[in-house]
Amino acid sequence: MATHVKTFQIPTEPDDDFPGQGLFPCQACSRHFIDEQALDKHIRSKAHKKRLRELKEPAYTHAEAEAAGGLGNFIPPKRRKTSNMEVS
Ligand SMILES: [Zn+2]
Repeated sequence: MATHVKTFQIPTEPDDDFPGQGLFPCQACSRHFIDEQALDKHIRSKAHKKRLRELKEPAYTHAEAEAAGGLGNFIPPKRRKTSNMEVS
């Protein structure tokens, strides 16, 4: 099954390619922070807590998640079949 989840990387050693050298990751949110203070602040933030709740609720189907995310799954009504009718 295909997912849109990107692989979240946590370097095993300090790595300059990551904010904070990858030392302050939030795995739940797939984010890196620049220092412990920033990570701490993030962990107490609404966005992070919301994310944790979402992770605990696997009930959503992918389609529902997309619909909720505003991507929608609107299917336009079928076109009336007029193309093969001759106009006299
Ligand atoms: Zn987080």
